[in-house]
Amino acid sequence: MTRLVVLGATGSIGHQTLEVADRLELEVHAIAARRASDALLELATVYPDARVGVAGPTPSEREQLMATLGDRVLFGPEALVELAATPEATVVNGTVGVAGLPASVAALVAGNRLALANKESLVAGGDVVLNARDRGGGRLVPVDSEHSAIYQCLVGEPPASVRRLILSASGGPFRGRTSDQVESATVDEALDHPTWQMGPRITIDSATLMNKAFEVIEAHHLFGIDYDRIDVVVHPQSIVHSLVEFVDGSFKAHLGEPDMRVPIQYAITEPDRATGPAAPFDLVGRSLSFEEPDREAFRCLDLGYAAGRAGGSAPAALNAADEIAVLAFLERRIGFGSIAAIVERTLEDVEHRTLTSVDDVLDMDREARAIAHGHVGGSC
Ligand code: MG
Repeated sequence: MTRLVVLGATGSIGHQTLEVADRLELEVHAIAARRASDALLELATVYPDARVGVAGPTPSEREQLMATLGDRVLFGPEALVELAATPEATVVNGTVGVAGLPASVAALVAGNRLALANKESLVAGGDVVLNARDRGGGRLVPVDSEHSAIYQCLVGEPPASVRRLILSASGGPFRGRTSDQVESATVDEALDHPTWQMGPRITIDSATLMNKAFEVIEAHHLFGIDYDRIDVVVHPQSIVHSLVEFVDGSFKAHLGEPDMRVPIQYAITEPDRATGPAAPFDLVGRSLSFEEPDREAFRCLDLGYAAGRAGGSAPAALNAADEIAVLAFLERRIGFGSIAAIVERTLEDVEHRTLTSVDDVLDMDREARAIAHGHVGGSC
C-alpha cells in the first residue's frame, strides 16, 4: 500500500496528486502547506487520519490548529522535513520555491520515493539532491511533464545508447514575436499562456523561456547528460512532451493531451502504470510542428545554459535572481525585457563557489536575491 506524503497539498500539483490518490485508493499519510488556509483545513477533514504540516503559521493559526487538530499537526519548516522522512513513504514535493529543498533532501536521505515537482530543488540544489539520493538510496522520479516524458523514454535503455535529450517547449505567448515586441510585452499578455494553466511565476518563466532553461538544468541532473547533449525544441501544440534521440538515429517521444495528473500518477506508480486518468486522446486530425527557439528574443534560455555549465552556485543564483525579477515585473516595476538583464547582472556580481549542503544553497539564494533587488532598484 502506497503511503503518500503530499507537500504543497493546497497548490495545483497537490490538488491533482490528491485526485490521483483518491482514484487509486492510496493512503494519504500526511498533507502539508505553507499556510493554514481554509483549503488546508478542509483537506484535514477529508483525510481525518492524515498528519498535517504547516510551514509558516501565524501565532493565531497555530493556536486554532492545535485546538482543532491536536497531535495531528506539526509546525515550522522542520515539519515538512519530518514528514518527508516518514519511513517507507512516497513523497510528492509540490511546494514552490527553494524552501522546498530541505524536504527533498530529507525524503531521499530517508530512502523514500520522491516524486519531485519542486523545480528549485534540482535547479538550485542539484548536487546536494543527488548526493542525498546516493547516500540514502531514495528514488528520484520527476513530475514535470517534460522530464517524466524523458524518464519514460529512457526505460530499458542503457546510458551509452543516448545521443541527446530534446525538451519540448510550447514557446509561450510570445512565440514568433521580434525581440523588440518581446521586450515591451505587458503583464497581462505574459500571463496569458496558450496551453498550461499555472501559477503566475511559472507562467512568466514560460513566457521568457526561463522555465525551459530551468528544465535543461533539471534534465542535466536527473539524467546525468551534459549540456551539449540537451536541446530545446519549440512545439506549440504541447502534444509531444519531450523526446530522446539514440545513437542509432532512432527517436522516442512521449505523447498525450497536456494533463499533469498523468506524470503525477506515473511518478507514484512507476515502473508500473495504473488505468486513467487522462481523457481519451485521438491522434487523427492532429498536426504536430517543431521549430528552433528564438534565442535572441528569449535570452533567458542561454543564460540558463551558461549558468548550468558554470555549475556550483550559478544555477542557484539564476533561480533567485529570476524570482526577484519576475516579482518586480508582476508588480509593474520593471519591463519584460529587464528580467533577463537583471538575471545576467546578478550572475556577474555574485561571488561564485561550490555548494555542498542545503545551508550553502540557502545562503547563496539569499545573497543572489539581495543583489537582484539592488538591480531592480537600479532599473526603476
Ligand atoms: Mg514543464
